[in-house]
Amino acid sequence: MGRVISFPSQCGGVGKTTLCVNLAAALGAAGRRVLLVDLDARGCATAAIGASARGGTVAELLSEDEEAGSLLTETAAPNVLLLAADGRLAEAETALVYKKDGETALREALRGVQDAFDDVLLDCPPSLGALTVGALTASDGVLIPVDCERFSSDALAKLTETIALVRNFLNGGLREEGIVLTMYDRRALTARETEAVLRRDAPEKVYETVIPRTPRTAEGMACGRPVVLLDPKSIGARAFGALAEEFLKKQRG
Ligand code: ADP
Ligand code: MG
Repeated sequence: MGRVISFPSQCGGVGKTTLCVNLAAALGAAGRRVLLVDLDARGCATAAIGASARGGTVAELLSEDEEAGSLLTETAAPNVLLLAADGRLAEAETALVYKKDGETALREALRGVQDAFDDVLLDCPPSLGALTVGALTASDGVLIPVDCERFSSDALAKLTETIALVRNFLNGGLREEGIVLTMYDRRALTARETEAVLRRDAPEKVYETVIPRTPRTAEGMACGRPVVLLDPKSIGARAFGALAEEFLKKQRG
């Protein structure tokens, strides 16, 4: 059965979607069968992986009118299928709040498809609202992206609190897979300080691999071809490849 991992953060622009899309592409390149789920109404992950919302979206999945399997879209990345998102997801999120058992709706909806995959990656919206709670409820693990340029220990504490609440009330099996340092610039003092603090305070949680800030990575996001595919030998692509290896190693042991 596919393992479901969510990528939450209450802030936008921390590199969540970039991390999620490129990890999906790198896992696919390593032969894993990957489902990427776009949970942001802006559809950033959908666009970044070279797909569109025409074939079906998460909003339809949550409305329960459609079988999940019929809503999957091919992507530019080998072995990676997508559950897309577009503006309609905003309404679907509001509906979740009013729905009985709205917190578990995504988990139930994904049950029908997750078996066909090794890894199911949920790209969360920039909030701790209903969709993020739904994603955490549906997940086996949570991977926390930390933006090294704008690290906030308060934001990380709040997110950790939300994860603990979900674990206590909705999903006892939710594991912290770890913290990934993104937007890393070795020359910047803030990045080195953030890394030092997190490795000191949570050494077992922080991934060895850090994701550097590179122009090629940003270019890949803008042109709908993740850097892992756009320029596999680039520094950015190699970092995502190393991250995928570390991710799989952690899963095995
Ligand atoms: P979030 O999903 O947290 O809102 P994104 O992944 O969409 O963040 O990233 C926000 C912006 O930063 C995008 O324009 C993206 O291209 C850029 N970005 C993210 N990660 C990197 C990186 N490692 N190197 C360069 N640019 C990045
Ligand atoms: Mg995003």
